Amino acid sequence: MSLENYIRDIQDFPKEGILFKDITPLLNNAEATQECLQILVKSLNGHQINKVVGAESRGFLFGMLLAQELNAGFVPVRKPKKLPYETVSVTYDLEYGTDTLEIHKDAIQKGDKVLIHDDVLATGGTAKAVCELVEKLGGEIVQLNFLMELKFLNGREKLNGYDIFAVLTY
Ligand code: 5GP
Repeated sequence: MSLENYIRDIQDFPKEGILFKDITPLLNNAEATQECLQILVKSLNGHQINKVVGAESRGFLFGMLLAQELNAGFVPVRKPKKLPYETVSVTYDLEYGTDTLEIHKDAIQKGDKVLIHDDVLATGGTAKAVCELVEKLGGEIVQLNFLMELKFLNGREKLNGYDIFAVLTY
């Protein structure tokens, strides 16, 4: 079965008018998860990675698997007030209002080679904010990778200059 078959479309979730891509059927299948993981690893073309940064919360799932596979440390980026130690934060614009993301200030060292991972690239706002956090700490972004890219939302336009890879595109 191709990987697309493990992504479930949910109409009107979490709000009316949104077609949500549900990755839980993929996570529920060990072979499909392993196949996805290997595609993500291969896309790095052997580039060395010291830290994998995963965006809350679905970015933690493959983020941690990738970190183990690449022999790198894993770093969570979280919503405000979730991380226990001292943080650096970034506030970014949403369609209505703003959102904030945080990272532990000692999670990345200057010159670390960083892979940023999230499940879905939509408008790119989240990924852009994660890039800013990593760069504030002096990390060098090697690649941003995703399980899925929703092309029609033009997330790549916000991420000019970065290497971007997605396993599946819609
Ligand atoms: P963006 O900031 O690029 O607009 O949105 C990306 C963030 O929203 C990601 O953290 C992702 O988890 C979540 N997201 C947006 N749309 C979807 C979707 O259809 N499916 C899933 N699983 N996550 C989504």
